[in-house]
Amino acid sequence: MDRINENTGGISIGSKAKRPMVALARPDIGELEIALVNRVLRSDFLSMGEMTREFERALAAYVGAPHAVAVSSGTAGLHCLACCFGLGPEDEVITTSFSFVASSNVALYERARPVFVDIEPEQFCLDPDLVQAAITPRTRAILAVDVFGHPCRLDRLKAIADEHGIPLIDDACEALGAERNGVKLGAPGQASAAVFAFFPNKQITTGEGGMVVTDDDRIAAMCRSLRNQGRGEGDHWLLHERLGFNYRMDELSAALGVGQLRRIEDLLQGRDQVADLYRQRLSGVTGVTVYPVAPGVRMSWFVYVVRLDAAIDRDRVARRLARCDIPTRPYFQPIHLQPFYRERFGYRGGELPVTEAAGRSCLALPFHTRLTAGEVDRVAAALEEAIVACSG
Ligand SMILES: *Cc1c(COP(=O)(O)O)cnc(C)c1O
Repeated sequence: MDRINENTGGISIGSKAKRPMVALARPDIGELEIALVNRVLRSDFLSMGEMTREFERALAAYVGAPHAVAVSSGTAGLHCLACCFGLGPEDEVITTSFSFVASSNVALYERARPVFVDIEPEQFCLDPDLVQAAITPRTRAILAVDVFGHPCRLDRLKAIADEHGIPLIDDACEALGAERNGVKLGAPGQASAAVFAFFPNKQITTGEGGMVVTDDDRIAAMCRSLRNQGRGEGDHWLLHERLGFNYRMDELSAALGVGQLRRIEDLLQGRDQVADLYRQRLSGVTGVTVYPVAPGVRMSWFVYVVRLDAAIDRDRVARRLARCDIPTRPYFQPIHLQPFYRERFGYRGGELPVTEAAGRSCLALPFHTRLTAGEVDRVAAALEEAIVACSG
C-alpha cells in the first residue's frame, strides 16, 4: 500500500501511478511566514517571546475577543478549559459524537463523562432540544462543535447553559473565521470560551497549535497558568500554584501563525472558491447532497464534505476513488463507535441514529486553497462514476 502523508495527503511514497495524486489537504505557506519564522530563528527567543504575544493579540483582534491564549494544540486548549471549569469524576459533559475524538477525550482526561446527544440532520451540529433534554443535576458543561467550519446554534446552547449555570465550551477548532449574522465565532457573549486549532489541514496552521479565546478575565488567567505548568502570574518561574501542563506554543509556531493570520482573508477566500466550484459541479449529481450552509452563516470551510444517498456504499466509493489517486476521508466516524469508546462505555450502534447515518454517508473530498478547477473536475467526474458503480 502507498503511504500517504496525513498532513498533505499528497505525498505518495513508492506510488507507481502515472497520474499525479490529488492532495487531500495542503498547507498554504507564503514568503511572509518563512521570513517571520527566520526572524525567530535569528533571535534568542524560541519560546515565550514576542511572537506568541503578537499572535495572541492579532487573533484576539481578528475574532473580537478580549483575551486569546496560545497553546500547543487545539486539544490542549480544550483540556485547559476542562480543567478550568473543574470537571471531575461523576461530572457529565453534554456533547456531540459527530466530531474529532479530541472534543470528548478532554472530558475523559479529567475523569468526567461525555454524554452524547444527537445532531441536527442538515448541518450535523448539536441539536439544542436534545441538549436541553439531557441536562441532569450532574451536568457540568456543554461542549459544542462547529462542524466542518459551520457555527452551531450557540445562541440557543448559551441560553440553556445560562439557565443551568454551567459553562458552554465552543470547540471552534474547525471554524476560525466562521460567522453567524455577521458575528465571528470567538466574539464575546456566544460561549464561555472558544478554542481554535492550527494543525496543517486547518484554515491557518502553526504546524501544531491552538488558541483559547474568551471574554472572561479569570478563564484567560487560568488558561495562562495551566499551559505553563501551573505557574502564577508574574515573574515567579519556580512557583507553581496548581497542577498544570506544558501546553505552551513555541515562537516558531507563533511566527507561522502571525504570518498566516495576516493572510487569512485570502486563505478563506481561496477555500470559498474551491467549495463553490465543488458545489456548482456536484449540485445536480444523483446520489450526492452538497453540504447546506444555513441562512445568515458565513461558512469557514475546513473540509469539503458531501453526503451520499443511503443506498450508496460510501466505503466502496472511497476505495474506487483511491484507485484513481483521489484520497478521501469518511468525516466523521462517530466518537461513540470508536473502538475505545465501545469498549469503555458499551456503545453498540443505534444510540444516535442521526449521527450514525451521517457517519455512514459523509465523504470529505480533496480540499485546499490550491486545488485547481481541473482537479475539482477530475474529482467530481470520478465521484460520479464511482456512485453509478456502487449504487444499489
Ligand atoms: C482539529 C480539531 C481539534 C484539535 O486538534 P489538534 O490536533 O489537537 O490541534 C479539536 N476538535 C476538533 C473538532 C477538531 O477538528
